[in-house]
Amino acid sequence: MSACAFCGTPVPPPFRAPAPEGSPDLDGRPGEPTRSTLRRWLQICPGCGVCAPDLAALPATMREIVPIDGDAASPFERWAQIVAGTPEEPEALLQAAWLVEDDGGDGATLRRRALAVWRKPADAEGLIRLADVQRRAGLLREAAATLSTLPPGIDDGAIRIAAFERARISLGDTGRHLLSSALRPPARTPHVSHGKAQTGGFWSRLFGGSKP
Ligand SMILES: [Zn+2]
Repeated sequence: MSACAFCGTPVPPPFRAPAPEGSPDLDGRPGEPTRSTLRRWLQICPGCGVCAPDLAALPATMREIVPIDGDAASPFERWAQIVAGTPEEPEALLQAAWLVEDDGGDGATLRRRALAVWRKPADAEGLIRLADVQRRAGLLREAAATLSTLPPGIDDGAIRIAAFERARISLGDTGRHLLSSALRPPARTPHVSHGKAQTGGFWSRLFGGSKP
């Protein structure tokens, strides 16, 4: 038994999500079996209501933050407040969107909140992920603009995923898509080797990085 760093209430050890085996979504949500454990990624302190992946490991600098009203927002939004200003904030807000979507709701508003604090990446994989989050938030023009800033010389996987994203944007599609779908070779080029591309490989590892 460890203790909540805010209030000292005993809490169980943090949840350790299983490693993903299935394809991630293009917005970085890990595949199964990780995907469906989303609700267990945060611990909620029974004493003070603070939410964190590991209540016992909150940095000292975060301990003075007054926990916000526990009923006012989802656990991921409360965690986002604690990590405000850090690279974890947009990830927490994106995870809050996933939770809403799992319950059949519309996560676009939370995705836009995540984008408002998103740090613009310089690398191809980061830019493509950003474009997907923008597309899923309904910001199709912004998503296309992000793809237009991809650096020259990107690899075949990035080219294929970017083309997939552009096609979705042109169709006005704001739905969920798997990385494996984007990497699948077009039907007109059956000579292209399927196996290697469909596993995702390099790209799966990059895009699986948002799991706890
Ligand atoms: Zn506590």
